[in-house]
Amino acid sequence: MSPAEASDSADLGREPLNAQEMLAAVDDAIAEQGQWLASLHRAVVCRTDPPGELIAETSEALSEFGHWVARHGDDPLLRQQVFRDLWISFAAMHDAGREVLKAAKGQAVSDRIYDKLVNSSDRFLSNARRMRDAFRKAVSELDPLTGLSNRATMMDELEVEADRSLRSGARLCLALTDIDHFKKVNDTYGHAAGDEVLSVTASRFIACLRPYDSIYRYGGEEFLVALPNANTGTAISVLERLRTNLCRRPVVLEDGRELEVSASFGLAMLWDGLDLKQVIERADQALYKAKQEGRNRVVPWSNALEEDATSEEDAASDAEQGSPDTGGA
Ligand code: GH3
Ligand code: MG
Ligand code: MG
Repeated sequence: MSPAEASDSADLGREPLNAQEMLAAVDDAIAEQGQWLASLHRAVVCRTDPPGELIAETSEALSEFGHWVARHGDDPLLRQQVFRDLWISFAAMHDAGREVLKAAKGQAVSDRIYDKLVNSSDRFLSNARRMRDAFRKAVSELDPLTGLSNRATMMDELEVEADRSLRSGARLCLALTDIDHFKKVNDTYGHAAGDEVLSVTASRFIACLRPYDSIYRYGGEEFLVALPNANTGTAISVLERLRTNLCRRPVVLEDGRELEVSASFGLAMLWDGLDLKQVIERADQALYKAKQEGRNRVVPWSNALEEDATSEEDAASDAEQGSPDTGGA
């Protein structure tokens, strides 16, 4: 299976967990751990009978967190080593808890057994907090619908890339891409279908990028692609791959309906003396031209486009000022 086809298996099917859901689950696990520890201490100090789920052989699986892990056990995120380590420390903590409760039944709990509980609980909390911080960062930097970096992150990363390009002399191209007739998708199939198209479009684009390229969700159905080490020719060929991989087969919605989707691309290169905002503006002018020329195409910026844009701005300003030619008041 090629990467492009493999990415399409993510088109549909079970929704993988996103950073927001992971953050909520880890947050809940931390809160639940506090309650678990409190009820364990209550049972030991007040010598009350501990609740059944504290002493069960599989107490970790009976917890809310245990149920959540069982429900999502086959999710790729939960198969990562860092998550396995979190689960191992959670199970070790429950293990130590059971040992403390068993020992507390007849006599005083020894230092060794109590220290094991404290150490394993500290280890779980430190793993969980580290994971929570990582997902918190991901949530603030990623667009939840497409999983791409959002616009806030984009400018910081582009500044670094632009500095590198100007220092090393390696070319940096930026492209803006916008899905064609996307309003019609929403109007005909509904907003949820539009969201599905956005998410599939992002994964088809990602599948065609080079490892060092980046893509950001720039706005509604617009994406910005950063292509380091690319002259205009290389950038056009990368973008042509993105374009054809999107339109060569329909997007199949969850309910089986099929939609033809295409996108237009405007491309501009960073030059000494131009700032990022100006390069993005040029890419936008080129994108506008791609739409005018019929959509589903890649257009590189040229001086002629600047002249077009200037004359359109002049016409608009004439109209605003009520030039007699334009019929303004
Ligand atoms: P064009 O080919 O000229 O780009 O035509 P278009 O219909 O795509 O026009 P335009 O770019 O103006 O339309 C953007 C639409 O995208 C309008 C807005 O309702 C929709 N949109 C923006 N963000 C989202 C989103 O997150 N989900 C969905 N479903 N729609 C969105
Ligand atoms: Mg748009
Ligand atoms: Mg559009």
